[in-house]
Amino acid sequence: MAVPFIDLQRFEEGFLDRWMEKCHEITRNTRFISGPEGTKLEGWLRDESGVAEVVGCANGTDAIQLALRAAGVGAGDLVLIPDATFWATFEAVVNVGARPVTVDIDLEDLQMDFELFRKAYSQYKPKAAILVNLYGWGSRKLDDYRAFARENKLPLIEDSAQAYGVTWKGASIYRDAWMSTVSFYPAKVLGSCGDAGAVYCSSKEQADTVRKLSNHGRTSHYGYGLIGWNSRMGGFDAAFLNLSHEYTEERIASRRRSAEWYRRELAALDIRTVAPPTGYVENGYLNVTLHDPAVRPQIEAVLKEHGIGFGNVYPGSMSTQPGAEGFIAGRVGGENADWLGRAVLNLPLFAYMKDSELDEVMSVLKKALAAR
Ligand SMILES: *Cc1c(COP(=O)(O)O)cnc(C)c1O
Repeated sequence: MAVPFIDLQRFEEGFLDRWMEKCHEITRNTRFISGPEGTKLEGWLRDESGVAEVVGCANGTDAIQLALRAAGVGAGDLVLIPDATFWATFEAVVNVGARPVTVDIDLEDLQMDFELFRKAYSQYKPKAAILVNLYGWGSRKLDDYRAFARENKLPLIEDSAQAYGVTWKGASIYRDAWMSTVSFYPAKVLGSCGDAGAVYCSSKEQADTVRKLSNHGRTSHYGYGLIGWNSRMGGFDAAFLNLSHEYTEERIASRRRSAEWYRRELAALDIRTVAPPTGYVENGYLNVTLHDPAVRPQIEAVLKEHGIGFGNVYPGSMSTQPGAEGFIAGRVGGENADWLGRAVLNLPLFAYMKDSELDEVMSVLKKALAAR
């Protein structure tokens, strides 16, 4: 039996019918840009996270760019980012005219290394930093990062594109961030029917700036106070997210169950499955296993042969990408992010995986290990 890496088509009973009805209503009313659905979405995102305000936008990459611009980051500024993340984090910094400095990761939690971050801060005196909460959890030093940023008046943006539904010490990971972002790309934990994203803001002022930037810097319909761009969310996206919200608890619970199941079963095979640090409840976004880079290709070959989907999130560090050349302003730390790229293997994980699928993944994995 083949098992896909991800299957987005496991809609709940009744979901598709309700969605079709919604599509009809939006089309009839021509509410194609955000509108009441957008306001509703921003309302519950704010209420369930406990932040001051949330602003919807066109995608998760724009969300980071909006946050950077609202933080006053621009031409020539330096921004610290982890060396292991999705390329959008790097790109966002460059797209606002700034230059990234990459910081290596902590192999304990696979997030930016706090000691190296502090070192990078004193070495580069950056204008801002982006902490990425990767894999469905975040840094074990999250409180230290936030305290350090506060003490040093360093704008700390959290790229929480993958962190929807993650809790830290009992509260939403978004709650105590200075500013953080999310992506609603369809394959994320809360996925839209297209591209969408949002910025979580800790003050009304932040949110006002983000909102203006995302709508051509508008202060009135034909009055422009800032140079922004068009990063508005579509009406269909907002409506799809509002409908999906009714099912997210169940979806995340299912993901968590599978994530924990893997961790238990894989431990018995002596495969290291990375676990969220104490204090986190993960959202089950990804399974993360680590292998000897010399052996990983053999395991992958067996998975492929048996139709088991897998991922390598992410196969290379940011600082070594060809596109980084000419833009990267520095690189702090060692080779952990590069090693991760060669060691990481992600097994299928999505909402409503069947027990039979999990069993199949495990039985193929056993074959792969025996063939090593
Ligand atoms: C998905 C993702 C993004 C970008 O989001 P888009 O909606 O695809 O633009 C940024 N950062 C991280 C860590 C992501 O996983």
